Amino acid sequence: MGLHNFRIAFLVLVLCCIPVAYGWGIDGHLIICRLAQPRLSKSAADAVSQLLPAYADNDLGSLCSWADRVKFRYHWSSPLHYINTPDNLCTYQYKRDCKDEDGIEDRCVAGAINNYTTQLLSYGNGNSASEYNLTEALLFLSHFIGDIHQPLHVGFTSDRGANTIDVRWYRRKEVLHHVWDSNIIETAEKRFYDSNVEELIDTLQKNITTVWSKQAKAWEACAKTACPDVYASEGIKAACDWAYKGVEEGSVLNDDYFLSRVPVVNLRLAQGGVRLAATLNRIFG
Ligand SMILES: [Zn+2]
Repeated sequence: MGLHNFRIAFLVLVLCCIPVAYGWGIDGHLIICRLAQPRLSKSAADAVSQLLPAYADNDLGSLCSWADRVKFRYHWSSPLHYINTPDNLCTYQYKRDCKDEDGIEDRCVAGAINNYTTQLLSYGNGNSASEYNLTEALLFLSHFIGDIHQPLHVGFTSDRGANTIDVRWYRRKEVLHHVWDSNIIETAEKRFYDSNVEELIDTLQKNITTVWSKQAKAWEACAKTACPDVYASEGIKAACDWAYKGVEEGSVLNDDYFLSRVPVVNLRLAQGGVRLAATLNRIFG
């Protein structure tokens, strides 16, 4: 390989592999959208297939991480992926917490879920020149219902959802936030599912219809069209009880942490998928 080709190969490698700092990793979002799509009602499934761009081939999962990829182009959207709550309180309140760093209200993941739900409710109004881009609204909503189920997306303010807490994941240097975005899922895939995300999705899918079937009904319940406040309150509680618990700067996280937390991650992924479907079903009737 000539030096020039080598440089290009190196550049491609670097560009492809820069980790994205916030949000479930690609697999987390893929899992949630894949769990959701088969649960859609006929009318919701039709709307989703209408709104997805042709190249997605009616696979919502393929575009579930789109909102992370446009963060740099749509700079305004960055604060919409998370909520900062007061340090160590372990509670969430919309009025108190749903704002961005400049204090602008409604700019957090719960506010974004409400906003894109409202936009999507205009679908099929017969007004084909909707003032909104409903394809983007669908992709944002599908992504944000995922993010709000990542416990550290409803984290403490001073550590930016554990983005400033350095730990070791087994022997690798990571920040705690990334452990919950990606490492727990990746380690589970490697250890239990032959490194095959499809097998993990199948297992979660089966659990939703068997051992979790009663609970899944309760996960769906929502007196409004969207219920992000319920999910955010569960999120900060899980962050305190499981993600932050027992971890400090420099902690080494290994099997003890992994094996006790992987059920929490599985539960949140399943809830995210069930609730994304239920929300889209309520929106599209
Ligand atoms: Zn995100």
